[in-house]
Amino acid sequence: MTEGPYYKANPPQKNSLVEANTTGTRVVMTGYVLTADCKPVANAKVDVWQADEKGSYDNSGYKYRGYVMTDANGKYSIETVIPGEYPGRTEHIHVKVWLPSGKVLTTQVFFPGQSSNASDGIYTPNMLATMSDTATGKQALMNFVVKN
Ligand code: FE
Repeated sequence: MTEGPYYKANPPQKNSLVEANTTGTRVVMTGYVLTADCKPVANAKVDVWQADEKGSYDNSGYKYRGYVMTDANGKYSIETVIPGEYPGRTEHIHVKVWLPSGKVLTTQVFFPGQSSNASDGIYTPNMLATMSDTATGKQALMNFVVKN
């Protein structure tokens, strides 16, 4: 999928993108990075960027930008907030997944039940997260399959 206009290279490595005093709904996005033949990929880089809860990107710094690495089982987990909408777009989280081989998947994650999904030309139901409630907010399950 398109990376859009707001990607910034060289984000920091961090397990949580949540900013102090945010009013956003906390969500832990988690899942596996897999090859096309369904093998988990250790040491893949999951690079996330998104708007804050009000729909604004930080284009001067690295708020709501960061990456995590998959573990030995190919699992990643990153804490953030549900992003706000901005004009023309439904709620979405941008992701680049880099395999150790250098192959990269650029994609976007969407949320079920958003009324703006249907009118967003980039939206695809293939990239809808599976949501559940947790003690601190929500969990968004999303596996990424990257052709190696
Ligand atoms: Fe965007």
